[in-house]
Amino acid sequence: KGDPRLQAISDAIRVVPHFPKPGIMFQDITTLLLDHKAFKDTVDIFVDRYRDMDISVVAGVEARGFMFGPSIALAIGAKFVPLRKPRKLPGTGEVIAEAYDLEYGSDCLEMHVGAVQPGERVIVIDDLVATGGTLSAAIRLLERVGAQVVECACVIGLREVKGQRRLNGKPLYILVEPR
Ligand code: AMP
Repeated sequence: KGDPRLQAISDAIRVVPHFPKPGIMFQDITTLLLDHKAFKDTVDIFVDRYRDMDISVVAGVEARGFMFGPSIALAIGAKFVPLRKPRKLPGTGEVIAEAYDLEYGSDCLEMHVGAVQPGERVIVIDDLVATGGTLSAAIRLLERVGAQVVECACVIGLREVKGQRRLNGKPLYILVEPR
């Protein structure tokens, strides 16, 4: 995209072959978090993109969406809402859940009812999109409470994952794609 910061961001992400299981090329953003300039540039790029878009909610996907989302939320004047794995959020009955399919099996994201009001403009953030199944579940969850999902944002977009990215028609903003 011509932004000189993106190469350094890409270089700061460690690729761990065969983690957590054979055949997976794991994109490890913990090394990006260790690199102050690359980490700050990553957050700044998202902040510059979203600061004037009237966003009132940054929703982060557990766990690595939690590592980028709050910094972005603070900088653009939005609240941060965690979308969590099952049974982590306290308050049964005040939590809504959305299941999604994985390559093997399924998983689920949960959100506190009342955290996001109808009509609020939301961006959803995670470290990486592969099939888009996780982000699609996040979009469904937010739309069920009447929120408007403006965009999904990820540091990394996997190119080698075939097929369309199922994002329910929402735009997807990606910083880097692994070689
Ligand atoms: P998907 O739902 O297929 O788009 O998968 C995205 C979710 O799985 C994100 O929460 C990622 O953190 C995680 N994920 C999937 N593949 C990888 C990978 N190769 N390296 C790191 N995280 C991954």
